[in-house]
Amino acid sequence: MRHSLVLVINSGSSSLKFALIDAVSGDARLTGLGECFGLSDASVSWKYDGEKSSFALEATGNHHQQAIDRLVLLLDELGLKQDIIAIGHRVVHGGERFSETVKIDDQVLAEIEALSELAPLHNPAHVIGIRAAISAFPYLPQYAVFDTAFHQSMPAKAYRYALPEKLYQDFGIRRYGFHGTSHFFVSLEAAKLLGKPAEKTNVITVHLGNGASICAVRNGQSVDTSMGFTPTAGLMMGTRCGDLDPGIVDFLINKGWSQAEVQQALNKEAGFLGVSGLTSDCRGIVEAMEAGHAGAKLAFEIFTYRVAKYIASYMVALDELDAIVFTGGIGENSLPVRSEVLKYLKIFGYREDATGNANARFGEKGVITKPNTPMAMVIPTNEEWVIARESMALLHA
Ligand code: AMP
Repeated sequence: MRHSLVLVINSGSSSLKFALIDAVSGDARLTGLGECFGLSDASVSWKYDGEKSSFALEATGNHHQQAIDRLVLLLDELGLKQDIIAIGHRVVHGGERFSETVKIDDQVLAEIEALSELAPLHNPAHVIGIRAAISAFPYLPQYAVFDTAFHQSMPAKAYRYALPEKLYQDFGIRRYGFHGTSHFFVSLEAAKLLGKPAEKTNVITVHLGNGASICAVRNGQSVDTSMGFTPTAGLMMGTRCGDLDPGIVDFLINKGWSQAEVQQALNKEAGFLGVSGLTSDCRGIVEAMEAGHAGAKLAFEIFTYRVAKYIASYMVALDELDAIVFTGGIGENSLPVRSEVLKYLKIFGYREDATGNANARFGEKGVITKPNTPMAMVIPTNEEWVIARESMALLHA
């Protein structure tokens, strides 16, 4: 039997992730990653039917195009190419222009490129990937799914900074929020688990991965989120500092630091890595903390305390709260992180169910609080599936 497949592409500056999603079941038939683009050891690796393989790219040249060309060959070899009906691209920044998924044409591509000013690390890389995919699959419809789109429903009181109006009007300085596809997906799945229609579901979604953000979802719509004008804001992350007194930036620049040095410190050397001095990886932090490492303990404490503070503050964005929903690599797997966050929320009545917490790991969803207490749950995210489904919805519209 032939299947309808959607190729999902997430093109970064030095990497390109892809997944071939069955449009009916949502299963990933093929997943892969091109990495080290721009370096002599650029390569593409993939997993199909449980088997892993890889392929070295040429030492020089356009590695995005080479990766996509290799992918086309692979799809041909596996007999999957003719089953692809659409391509969905993850695009980090849609600004105020894109509040939903769109079909890509020349105009849309130009607008995504123009938004590079707001996402200089991401949007130019998406444009390169989209161009390479169009040249390899000129006959297929291609769609852009934006990380920012879900948050376009935020009210002005949530998205505006207390800055002069002119900065918003002239430069678009406002909170945009990111991880929208993940917050959207887990809020829908939470509604299913709660047995409620999505448009009547109120949740606080807590995406904790290398990047981390929280979202208040009121009646199915994002009404506040912790990332802001850039993905540096909000929670502490693997290497990003999260919220910060802007005076610190001034202070460092007055000390003679360059703008690039400050950016490097805030985005690449902070977070778990910076505080612990050890690692950006939550598993490593927990292991080191349990072995008595003081920096790892402090990193864990700052991280969990800030997550809990954000959850508490987002209660004011909602009239009622059905559940707190954990997701992302840390949110889906880390028992101690979830346990500690729930302890901070004791004042609101949250009580961890140790068995529920232990069971909801490694891809399993479930409720992690005791019966008859306010509910927290774990739902594994699936951004590729959202991108595939949104592309399918537009294809059939
Ligand atoms: P993501 O960016 O969503 O892939 O998440 C990456 C983060 O998830 C890293 O900090 C990992 O340490 C963390 N993570 C992944 N698996 C586990 C696990 N089994 N226990 C704790 N943390 C985990």
